[in-house]
Amino acid sequence: MSKTFDFCVLGAGLAGLSISKHLIDSGASVCLIDTSEIASGASGTPLGLVNPATGRWGTKSWRAEKCHQAVYEDLKEIQEHTPVRLFDKTGILRPAQDEKMAERMHDNYEKNDWPEDWCHWLDKKEVHDINPELHCVEGGMWLPHGLTVNVPTYLKSKADFLNKQGLEIRINADYSIHEKGTGFRLNFSDHGTIETNSVVFAAGSYTADSEYWNFLPLHAIKGQVAVFESPKTRKFDYSISALGYIASISDHRFVAGSTYEHHFDDIEPDIEGLEYLTDRLGGVYPSLFKEAKLVDQWAGVRASMPNKKPVLGSHPEIENMFVFTGLGSKGLLYSVYLGKSLTDYIIRGSAIPKEVSVNRL
Ligand SMILES: Cc1cc2nc3c(=O)[nH]c(=O)nc-3n(C[C@H](O)[C@H](O)[C@H](O)COP(=O)(O)OP(=O)(O)OC[C@H]3O[C@@H](n4cnc5c(N)ncnc54)[C@H](O)[C@@H]3O)c2cc1C
Repeated sequence: MSKTFDFCVLGAGLAGLSISKHLIDSGASVCLIDTSEIASGASGTPLGLVNPATGRWGTKSWRAEKCHQAVYEDLKEIQEHTPVRLFDKTGILRPAQDEKMAERMHDNYEKNDWPEDWCHWLDKKEVHDINPELHCVEGGMWLPHGLTVNVPTYLKSKADFLNKQGLEIRINADYSIHEKGTGFRLNFSDHGTIETNSVVFAAGSYTADSEYWNFLPLHAIKGQVAVFESPKTRKFDYSISALGYIASISDHRFVAGSTYEHHFDDIEPDIEGLEYLTDRLGGVYPSLFKEAKLVDQWAGVRASMPNKKPVLGSHPEIENMFVFTGLGSKGLLYSVYLGKSLTDYIIRGSAIPKEVSVNRL
């Protein structure tokens, strides 16, 4: 039997769940479809930071205030409906690892247009007052509004919440998509068909595998993270960002990430990834890694655009077909704000910011 929806959203990661929520909030009927499980792509990273000072030098990210506010509000809303802790406002400490990093970060602290209380410069002593075990050259940034998020649990809770609001969810779906008039028909190998007015592709690094979007210059970047156990460590209540990130999950357990692999043969975690993380982050916090034992390792693939900005908007030729991807390493920060931008564009005809519009290509 055929079901009818206003929208089918393809991909149940940060992008797909964000746009699904905004569309549901605007009164549309939505079916969210994934060929695998919820958060099975890059959004499956065990832990993620909402970090407004990004990259090696702590540059203030694009529309940091609006993006931060959007994801913070969303996290708080979903948190109200789940007993499991989804996130903490941990703040993020960025100790400089060498003189050049200290100089460039200090420049970004001084010259970027930070809102009051968003970015503080700590000298080396102040960094060591927080944690004397950290390697630090000259000082570092302290970002008290940084958030540390259990990403898979956030997204699964969000999916449950939206399901109760009427979102239909089909996971492990095997389907094909066909144009039908100004809409589309999706044929499922085991669940009949869906008729929909519009489709939104939000399939992360897989988006460009589709014949409709293979012109997108998406670049796949593999990232690995590792979970460690360290018997003598107590939970620390801030996250660390320096040559990667370190975040505490509980007493004795912490996560270290991540690699940026531009060339890779498979998407499995491997020993090279583990060594890279241990070497790099072991230099930032030597005593933490000294007695740490590996508990788990995970890998995912980010989709990144040449200008490192997401890509969203209409298909250039096919009516009612949209895309939302290219979130790179900032999916947590960008997805909620940009899901709203795309929804406003689709429903109300508002302009998409030109830096992230598909029209820039
Ligand atoms: C190791 C690592 C650490 C990271 N840390 C951070 C961080 O600290 N902070 C931050 O902001 N960001 C971080 N990111 C980036 C963030 O995770 C990504 O930007 C974000 O998850 C991308 O979300 P997405 O929904 O676009 O894609 P994905 O999460 O990849 O989701 C795509 C979904 O589409 C599904 N799919 C594939 N093909 C189809 C199809 N044909 N039809 C339907 N569904 C399909 C997949 O199964 C998948 O579930 C990290 C990424 C990695 C890999």
